[in-house]
Amino acid sequence: MEKKNIWETYSAGQLKELEALNQSYREFLDNGKTERECVDAIVNTVEAQGYRELDGLIREGKPLKKGDKVYSVWMNKSIILFRIGEKPLEEGINILGAHIDSPRLDVKQNPLYEDGGFAYLDTHYYGGVKKYQWVALPLAIHGVMVKKDGTTVELNVGENEDDPVFFVSDLLIHLAGEQMEKKAAKVIEGEALDLIIGNKPLVIDKKAGKKEEKDEKEKAREGVKAGVLEILKNTYGVEEEDFISAELEIVPAGKAREAGFDRSMILAYGQDDRVCAFTSLQAMLDVKESERTACCILVDKEEIGSVGATGMRSRFFENAVAELLNLTGEYSELALRRCLAKSCMLSSDVSAGFDPAFASCFEKKNASFLGCGMVFNKFTGSRGKSGSNDANAEYLAHLRKILDEKKVCYQTAELGKVDVGGGGTIAYVLALYGMNVIDSGVAVLNMHAPWEATSKADVYEAYRGYMAFLEGAAL
Ligand code: MN
Ligand code: MN
Repeated sequence: MEKKNIWETYSAGQLKELEALNQSYREFLDNGKTERECVDAIVNTVEAQGYRELDGLIREGKPLKKGDKVYSVWMNKSIILFRIGEKPLEEGINILGAHIDSPRLDVKQNPLYEDGGFAYLDTHYYGGVKKYQWVALPLAIHGVMVKKDGTTVELNVGENEDDPVFFVSDLLIHLAGEQMEKKAAKVIEGEALDLIIGNKPLVIDKKAGKKEEKDEKEKAREGVKAGVLEILKNTYGVEEEDFISAELEIVPAGKAREAGFDRSMILAYGQDDRVCAFTSLQAMLDVKESERTACCILVDKEEIGSVGATGMRSRFFENAVAELLNLTGEYSELALRRCLAKSCMLSSDVSAGFDPAFASCFEKKNASFLGCGMVFNKFTGSRGKSGSNDANAEYLAHLRKILDEKKVCYQTAELGKVDVGGGGTIAYVLALYGMNVIDSGVAVLNMHAPWEATSKADVYEAYRGYMAFLEGAAL
């Protein structure tokens, strides 16, 4: 079976639609570099389209009916959307799922220190990263600091052209003889990924009295750190102690860009998995009619095992479905179980795009190629499919029919050659309910690097595929 490049088949009208979609995609990436920012942006978008918050609907106790649109946010980091269909929920719903967390450097809880005239923030990396990729490039700080009185201060520094940026240093090549002999995993160690955030000491008032003089001397000992703290206090009203209750994420600075002379690709941070989150969301918003209730879940914490209250393994999704059943007057424990078991899901995540520069890590017949359409991974996992949700053949046949009817271009793939490596997604979590789940998504080059590449055509086909799924899946 040959994979065909989809670009050759587009009409002028389709190309226009493709470009418009990718333009919105780039904006989505620029406005959401953290899970919190994604949730904020999504809430704004869906509210403008008539979605109502689940908690408010529960308080009102007004029954839901066909066509009603509902959203539920969990701890500002995960979001679920529902659009009520014609059929009872008990007959199952169609679910699109993706994750909105991405690999990055997280700031520790006691992070601030000074050394050699620099002020630093100590970090712990989040998700799987090649640490050597995160040095000597402009970085931005995004996140929140929550003060003891409960007020939340939002930070987003490094994205505007006149913002300062931050960086992790690397050793100059002239002195790197020993470093260059090390294994790539050891060239830059995790504990060395500390962010340089300042180099100018606080200016001391020389005329101060005895007591003040002592205080100032104390400050001068770590003058650069004191200088940074002064700026944080003046700009954000925060103290050093507020780092204790902060979630600050260090990400590559800069906007998503078109790549190639032909502008056929997108190069951007965080496309794993915001490329699937965006296309799933867009399909959810654009689908007009569906017999079954449509659902879109965009979750946090996939990159560290779907754990925690905002990860897919948390009960917040099941709870939201239970509340929904209650509001449509269908709730019982049995109805909930039936609804979940009879649902269909596309668990969407990025796939490893074939890279000619590293061809030996792929098996070409079963690799995904950029520009060849949305990807289905029947299974993921590693070492004998371990840890994978291996989708049912009957389900795949059903999906083939739906996609072919809508002329969606798709390909099947595995994550690399057998025994070369592997990876996981959220698919296995939903499969616990007994529902039909398959891994699908978009092929990416340089996955988990600060800048990842996708094909605009694949973004478009994934969107079209998700639309077809929401409209047509029923197994
Ligand atoms: Mn992913
Ligand atoms: Mn990932």
